[in-house]
Amino acid sequence: MSATRIDGKVFAATLRTRIAEGVAAMADRGITPGLAVVLVGEDPASQVYVRSKGKMTREVGMNSYEHRLPDDTSQGDLLALVDQLNKDPSVNGILVQLPLPRHIDEEAVINEILPEKDVDGFTVLNVGRLATGQKAMVPCTPLGCLMMLRDQLGDLSGKNAVVVGRSNIVGKPMAQLLLRDSATVTIAHSRTQDLPGLCRSADILVAAVGRPHFVKGDWIKPGATVIDVGINRTDDGLVGDVDYAEAEQVAGAITPVPGGVGPMTIACLLANTLTATARANGLPDPE
Ligand code: NDP
Repeated sequence: MSATRIDGKVFAATLRTRIAEGVAAMADRGITPGLAVVLVGEDPASQVYVRSKGKMTREVGMNSYEHRLPDDTSQGDLLALVDQLNKDPSVNGILVQLPLPRHIDEEAVINEILPEKDVDGFTVLNVGRLATGQKAMVPCTPLGCLMMLRDQLGDLSGKNAVVVGRSNIVGKPMAQLLLRDSATVTIAHSRTQDLPGLCRSADILVAAVGRPHFVKGDWIKPGATVIDVGINRTDDGLVGDVDYAEAEQVAGAITPVPGGVGPMTIACLLANTLTATARANGLPDPE
């Protein structure tokens, strides 16, 4: 039997429609959410992401402000720009596209962003708030994964979840979100022993490794829900971290690559920008 294909494209389109409705409701109060995206340098993948972020921001009715800076921009100039955006009342969300050029201290730049405008959820304050159960801005990729998991499974409480990958942008916040929903969470990484065996214990398996077709079909518990975060460019095009052809024979549900987690990431960025705007204006968080 073949697994249910979790269609991230459709899910993200539905979410963007809801966000556009939220933006329209704010317009009635004279408020337009604004998202500022800062890109330093010419990284081709980053340019693609920034372009599509800008397009989708405008499509839901928000203002998009793009700041493209040359590769040799100094850290001081970048910090000054972030500071200016922090003070600009028309900017509700600030995203600094990563990676930054080597001569710039990424942590310093990220932590310069006001936590309430940190729509990527990468500042230490938001990471700490998430970890301690306080109201936080939650990183977009794991937030999108969580939404799809809740939609697929309903209550996650008591489920065994294995997250493969411990990065600050995906693995760790994903684990925190699953824990917040009362799943029993294990985080695996490159030093984990018997990874296939561990994965086979998972009702929920999230792969965020960055290796094409790394997770095999026989690592998957029959009926499990598999979320493939990986985006790997290969000669065969974009592929995930999970061997989809094998996995779909075993899993209960699985996200494809492309068309799974990817589209949800930008939709969640817009959702966070709407939330940031609501909070800045003393309105309740959007549904
Ligand atoms: P990182 O490279 O930062 O982290 C990869 C993680 O995988 C590390 O924790 C690493 O372990 C672990 N890992 C590597 N090799 C193995 C192995 N052999 N066995 C077990 N674990 C291993 O990647 P990211 O978290 O940034 O991204 C992961 C993937 O997700 C990438 O393909 C990326 O392109 C994609 N991505 C997709 C997004 C989307 O919107 N869909 C957004 C962000 C990322 P260790 O810590 O021990 O080195």
